[in-house]
Amino acid sequence: MKIICIGQNYREHIRELGSSVPGSPVFFCKPDTALLLRNRPFYIPDFTSQLHYETELVLRIGKVGKNIDPAFALSYIDAYTVGFDFTARDLQARCRKEGLPWEICKAFDNSAAIGAFVPKEKYPQGPGDLHFEMKKNGITCQSGHTGDMIFSAEEIISHVSRFFTLRTGDYIFTGTPCGVGPVAIGDKLEAFLEGEPLLRCSIK
Ligand code: MG
Repeated sequence: MKIICIGQNYREHIRELGSSVPGSPVFFCKPDTALLLRNRPFYIPDFTSQLHYETELVLRIGKVGKNIDPAFALSYIDAYTVGFDFTARDLQARCRKEGLPWEICKAFDNSAAIGAFVPKEKYPQGPGDLHFEMKKNGITCQSGHTGDMIFSAEEIISHVSRFFTLRTGDYIFTGTPCGVGPVAIGDKLEAFLEGEPLLRCSIK
């Protein structure tokens, strides 16, 4: 199982981070040790003083594929959920400035929190017309619509599968909308897909 994450996929988020719109999907990977499941708490690691949440639609891959044509890409998804791509923003700033790889700021233990999966049949409109939301301590901090993604789920699956064989059980984080921000010990995060609460996470 692998976790693939798309970066810079919403214009407003690109603006808030001062990045530029990419010409093709930007992606990175997290190892299986990054998975945080079953609403377990997240412990802020000691190597960062600026831990951020990023709330994202997550696709689960349901069959093996390589060089997938965008026209058939949706058939490779078997379920959706929401996830948190936890990011050490201070380390990321240093990595970006020095042109270094992103693993230390993005791929650390428990940095990929994943909610309960919903079979794709529940949302016949497909992954391009889904609303998702994140509340921190009961207050909405991020509210996104997947129609605003620069690269659609079809384009992401097609692009990523040119480089990596996709396998059953792989996860793809599709990028965060604007509104990313810090978490602190004691915060309670909750994420929703189409109004349904699928993921809770206490920050410790
Ligand atoms: Mg992200």
